[in-house]
Amino acid sequence: MSWSLCVPLYAINLAMKGLVINRHPTNFSRLPLTLFALILTLCHGSPVQGGEPGSEQLARSFSERKLGPAEILGELGIEAPRSCLDFTDRDVLDARKARWASAIAVLNHTHPDQLVGWIVGSTPPPKAALREAEFQKDCLLAAMIGDVNRSPLRLRVILNYGDVFEGEVANARQLASRFEQTPGWRRRILSHLTQSSYRDAKSQSHIWMRKYLFEGRSFNIVSEQAGERCGLPAGQTWKPESSRHHRCWKEQLSPEEREREILHASSAPGISRHHWGSEFDLFSLNPNSFTDGAPLNHDYQWMTQHALNFGFFQPYRGEKAKGGHAGYMEERWHWSYLPLAQAIHDFIAANETRVERALNHQWDEFEARSNRWRRAKIAYFPFVRSRWRDYVFNIDLPPAPTVVAEAEPEPELEARSDVLSNEP
Ligand SMILES: [Zn+2]
Repeated sequence: MSWSLCVPLYAINLAMKGLVINRHPTNFSRLPLTLFALILTLCHGSPVQGGEPGSEQLARSFSERKLGPAEILGELGIEAPRSCLDFTDRDVLDARKARWASAIAVLNHTHPDQLVGWIVGSTPPPKAALREAEFQKDCLLAAMIGDVNRSPLRLRVILNYGDVFEGEVANARQLASRFEQTPGWRRRILSHLTQSSYRDAKSQSHIWMRKYLFEGRSFNIVSEQAGERCGLPAGQTWKPESSRHHRCWKEQLSPEEREREILHASSAPGISRHHWGSEFDLFSLNPNSFTDGAPLNHDYQWMTQHALNFGFFQPYRGEKAKGGHAGYMEERWHWSYLPLAQAIHDFIAANETRVERALNHQWDEFEARSNRWRRAKIAYFPFVRSRWRDYVFNIDLPPAPTVVAEAEPEPELEARSDVLSNEP
């Protein structure tokens, strides 16, 4: 279809979205999204990837008008939702992902360096990306709190204050009534339910180097292979203050094995999905809290049943990392906003060489800066440089809907003082 027709069609679509939002706030997304998917197909043939001609022409018109990324996203109809987007219909989810894929394709023409910087964590994500993922996250968690007194699952609520391993257990029923009755409390409660959302590559590099140099507080867990090598029980946390652990890490593990140990539960800077603005960590970073029969297992079950209706899925179920394959361990607390995250994921797959160049450049800089300061010659990322693709692409996509589980007796919540912080 000619672009003289496509551009007005996009404008009509945008106007419709505004009208539907105002008149039907609970179900505004479907009609404009369906129309948007139709326009995409007519104008682009299929959801846009990298360098398709449609996105190029649209990008040229934006470049001529000297629009910045935020303005471009606004023109493409990507703005913070005003009411919760309902993705129960998977076609709506696909249409939203197509919209993000299309926007990313346009930004790839107009602001290529900023786009790749966003993906590798050197440039903050566009506000529209952060706001949409955050808005949908709040919709999801508000639904969960609303279910505290309704669901057959015995839901628990953990409140986090600052960078802690596991926050305070709240009185869920009391908190749920306060949440529903006192508007001022909604925001305060929602802001304390998650551990971490956006994180840039620089802060991730500090985490990585601290672990690689075996300094600071406890982290991750000792893998079976490392445990066997050093005669340490697998499953306990790595403790830099322990001389046995220190000897094992520094003298018995190879540099590659050290990187692999960190990568079980921590991302390297540049390849963390937290850079994208699409991820959040729920309640606790303690894997033992979510296992079958553990205190937060009911919350996890609730998430597996409902999260995708709000656009979220669990990318690390540990299935791709089984049998010695490179990949992260299971993380039942890490949730990803699919329409944005998978559009980014697909962009990386289609532009591996460019992304790799940006990653290597960033790793070179991190290494040089640390080595200058320490007067050392440490290579922090050789294994990651060769295997980063495994950690970016070995994720588990949403499974088919599951059967609702029966409620089980409530276990006691154990307090733990050790820290498994800063996972991918
Ligand atoms: Zn995470």
